[in-house]
Amino acid sequence: MTEFPNHAFAKPPVNLSLLQKLAWLLATVGFAVIVLHFLNLAPGAYYSTQLTFSLSFLLLSVVLYAADLYRKKSSGIKNDGVWFRSLTNRGVWAWALGLVLTVFYVLLYWFPELLGMDAAGNTGVLRLFDPLSMLFKSQPASQWFMYGTLYSLAILSMGIKFLWKYRGNRYQFWRTVSVIFFQLVLAYFLPEIMEGLNQDKAYFAKDLKNFWPLNYYFFEPWHLDNMRAGGSLGMFYLVFGIFGFAVLTPILTYFVGKRWYCSWVCGCGGLAETAGDPFRQLSSKKLSSWKIERWLIHGVLVYIVLVTAVVLYGYFSGTGELFGLSIYEYFRKPYGFLVGAIFSGIAGVGFYPVLGNRFWCRCGCPLAAYMGLFQRFASRFRITTNGGQCISCGNCSTYCEQGIDVRDYAQKGKNIVRSSCVGCGICSAVCPRGVLKLENGPQEGRISEGPIVIDEGGVRIDGFGS
Ligand code: SF4
Ligand code: SF4
Repeated sequence: MTEFPNHAFAKPPVNLSLLQKLAWLLATVGFAVIVLHFLNLAPGAYYSTQLTFSLSFLLLSVVLYAADLYRKKSSGIKNDGVWFRSLTNRGVWAWALGLVLTVFYVLLYWFPELLGMDAAGNTGVLRLFDPLSMLFKSQPASQWFMYGTLYSLAILSMGIKFLWKYRGNRYQFWRTVSVIFFQLVLAYFLPEIMEGLNQDKAYFAKDLKNFWPLNYYFFEPWHLDNMRAGGSLGMFYLVFGIFGFAVLTPILTYFVGKRWYCSWVCGCGGLAETAGDPFRQLSSKKLSSWKIERWLIHGVLVYIVLVTAVVLYGYFSGTGELFGLSIYEYFRKPYGFLVGAIFSGIAGVGFYPVLGNRFWCRCGCPLAAYMGLFQRFASRFRITTNGGQCISCGNCSTYCEQGIDVRDYAQKGKNIVRSSCVGCGICSAVCPRGVLKLENGPQEGRISEGPIVIDEGGVRIDGFGS
């Protein structure tokens, strides 16, 4: 049977196989355990058994469902019917999911006691995660430990689904394995284990790859002091953190574009690419969105540079004030609230089903803005287009999560050199004509603004690519 990968002209019938029904059952049971604990309605015993079953069922349900769904289809992209599903086309289910995620983030940031946080001993859903936290670091679970566990589980399970969906595409395979690895090992297991092994030291052992300015508290006094008091390990974190954003990031972005971080390493990007994959078509492609996005993301970059400068001034001068104003209250705290919590957490993830999966990366992440400057002006990365082959189907633009009108470039045969491109490669993967190619090459002729000139033999002679 011939399959047309992305032309969702007809609503696909929903006929669940036995295995898919089983997967739904496992997901319901796994999720119900968490909800019942949140409502304090679950049995108050055998917490580790309940947690093990809950997390395993959730993981198994996605793996089983994806395997059964995709193994019967030939390899190639499977976005059939995305515009007909309520969840993936801003229908009732999308808004409901957005609301649930938003409420979850509000509880995480501002009302952890409603999740069961209690100095006298956790209750509620946090109590469920206590056994795992005790195993890592002999401490009861915090809301951030629970969040990290669920976040990592989401990247792992939805990453496996992604691998099934995009199987046959080597680039998608390796970058998905990469984001799963970096999330599980560097962002989750390592910090938790390190914290357990270094109980005598003040806390600093966070995610090593979470560079400033994405990690906005890196230069805060408490964090600097903790790293300085952390012996050789603390100094390693301090030096690597500075090296990471000042040296490693520009060099790697010069050679391969910002994709090395945004699509291969970053935890935010990792969640967007895996759990957020069903929502990538929701990014706005309007010119007005592009204009707003540029102001927003560069505004956040300027904001964090200024806040960090003020915080460092306070640290080295030994004063907590600037012009008589408390540095924490008037500079650092508003950034944490507006950008750290509202923008990256609530809007960044909570609004996946409404604004698309990369809203934060596109409009708010200061590290993406920083790398974007290199990508635009000093990088070897570009997406080349073989315009003669383009049939203007628009798949590339539709599934570009960064809202880039890829087709427009393809129709004109221009290279795509955009600061916002995260190099996910999906435009190339969904193109039925093989028009788009992610490449690194010399900077000369990388940005082609002029008309395409082809000689009588069909050879391009305008000096811009082939
Ligand atoms: S242009 Fe292509 S590679 Fe870049 S973000 Fe869009 S889909 Fe991904
Ligand atoms: S580049 Fe490919 S996916 Fe994009 S419009 Fe042309 S043929 Fe379609």
